[in-house]
Amino acid sequence: MHEVGIMHETIALAVRRAREAGAHRILEIRLRVGALSGVVPEALEFAFELLRAGTLAESARLQIVPVPATCWCASCRDEFGVPDLIAECPRCGQPSAELRRGRELELDSLEID
Ligand SMILES: [Zn+2]
Repeated sequence: MHEVGIMHETIALAVRRAREAGAHRILEIRLRVGALSGVVPEALEFAFELLRAGTLAESARLQIVPVPATCWCASCRDEFGVPDLIAECPRCGQPSAELRRGRELELDSLEID
């Protein structure tokens, strides 16, 4: 379960940022998770419960912000969502070569005290 390693790094980063800001505790961690990031949100939550004890994030909430997969159509000059992972433009039918969003796995923001 590589979510444990990811969450370990996320908490470490959050704690570092909170310390730099002079915070005593972290109230909330918001994490952007793309539909194609390859991680399971439930596994991230489980890992968070395991790893937060004894850190500044001990009583923090974990907010997972899902990011849907989105492609860019160069012909229509517009974005379209790819819920079924078929990267084909619904307007003109052309396959897209550019995935714009959906691979995110990053700390979005922190609420600290
Ligand atoms: Zn198109």
